[in-house]
Amino acid sequence: MAATPDSPQTPTEPASTNRFDNRFARLPQHFFSLLEPTAQPGTQLLDVSPECRRLLTMSEQEISDAQLRALLGGETLWPGMQPLAQKYTGHQFGIYNPELGDGRGLLLGEWRADSGASFDLHLKGAGRTPYSRHGDGNAVLRSSVREYLVSEAFAGLGLPSTRALAVAVNQQQVPRERWEPGATLLRVAPSHVRFGHFEWLALSEHDSDVTLLVDHVLSQHWPDLLEAPSPTLAMFERCAERTAEMIAGWQAMGFVHGVMNTDNMSILGIALDFGPFAFQEQFDPAFTPNLTDAEGRYAYSEQPSIGMWNLSRLAFALLQQIAQELGSEDAAQAAVQQTLENYGERINHAFGERMRARLGLIEELPEDTQLLGDFLSLLYHQRLDYHCAFRSLAQLSDPSDEKLPLALGQSAAALAWAERYRARLAHEPRSAQQRQQAMNQVNPLYVLRTHLAQRAIEAIEQHNDASELKRLRELLADPYNARAGMDEYAMPARNSAPVRLSCSS
Ligand code: AMP
Ligand code: MG
Repeated sequence: MAATPDSPQTPTEPASTNRFDNRFARLPQHFFSLLEPTAQPGTQLLDVSPECRRLLTMSEQEISDAQLRALLGGETLWPGMQPLAQKYTGHQFGIYNPELGDGRGLLLGEWRADSGASFDLHLKGAGRTPYSRHGDGNAVLRSSVREYLVSEAFAGLGLPSTRALAVAVNQQQVPRERWEPGATLLRVAPSHVRFGHFEWLALSEHDSDVTLLVDHVLSQHWPDLLEAPSPTLAMFERCAERTAEMIAGWQAMGFVHGVMNTDNMSILGIALDFGPFAFQEQFDPAFTPNLTDAEGRYAYSEQPSIGMWNLSRLAFALLQQIAQELGSEDAAQAAVQQTLENYGERINHAFGERMRARLGLIEELPEDTQLLGDFLSLLYHQRLDYHCAFRSLAQLSDPSDEKLPLALGQSAAALAWAERYRARLAHEPRSAQQRQQAMNQVNPLYVLRTHLAQRAIEAIEQHNDASELKRLRELLADPYNARAGMDEYAMPARNSAPVRLSCSS
């Protein structure tokens, strides 16, 4: 592993200064607290994502792994960075918490890629901030590795998400359910603005600043909306559309975020703040991986409606500004209501499209909804693995292959469903071969199963060995294409029972 401490000659700061901008730092001072990361003793770099390097056009010549290590260790900053903790609030499990903000992460600066696109570099696990409340400001190895892997897995699956450039372990021992090694993660995102930023502004004495943040978001990300009759409404509509697409993607992939608090919702509609997430394996609509969510508020089947609830909190925060821009409170109310209704339609449509693709269907027939519903019901009742079952449909869709794939079990219910499915495919225009190819590009073979992440974490914790982490990251970057010798990575754990994790580990 690239873990040896730098030799004294290694420069830990890159020379270039023209990459960074800090537009968030130019907002009024109450939006953030300027402060530097805390040094983390004995930081070792575990892995750097080559895909994320490519996205940033950050070559090793420009920024070496040694320089990344020093950055993740809180030892140095690079020229042009202006680190800060952002203030925001949010609804946690339905209850408003005014005390939130970056409690253990710092926005280091905005990196400008060769393409002209800008990316926040955010160091998670950077120490205490004015918003830490009772927290210690640390991140632990387990949650950092999981966030690193899932960020890169989402990219491989084509789902919108924050990215992760690098992850490092350090010599701190951090008290959680047990003592765990400390770690840091270098998170990358076009923006870290959350629903909670707007909730904070609207409910504070700075409510007139909502428009400043809307302008910040639109001019950076959606400049086409700047001239809309109500730019704030236009931002809300775009955010609702993106959020619908994002959650439809989660539902299709069987992904459960686990902590859909409004402070964990991105204004850009990208997945953010991965904690006790899971790609569920034995399909169960009521599943949540979050131990602290006894009522299942954020269970798999609840995610679409929680997305709507969270959007309604955002709408509440934006309403006064929208009313001002439209010149009427009634018009603002009606527009926001319409946007929420559109969200509902959009998520259903987007989910339907994704699932049709997973079933290999191009034609749209009335019985398709029932066919899908019965498939999910079969997975649930037969306790089948969600990912293996979908992947096996390509084989089942080939009329020249009579056998029922193993992943579907051998029950009478599976046989009956398979017969209906094959009969349905007779109405499809594509050849079996074309269909199989397309299905294999939407039904992933490799997903970030909890036991796989756990194995990578244990290899680091117990043997200081990051090779499993690298292998998994590489595999997940290209999850649709079979790799020789990697069959085991496409399988559920033996004797697997769903693993549940606590929130802020
Ligand atoms: P999360 O559940 O990770 O999204 O965190 C919710 C809030 O608690 C955010 O304001 C975090 O910054 C903060 N937080 C979580 N863990 C810690 C920690 N160990 N130290 C300080 N703040 C934390
Ligand atoms: Mg959070």
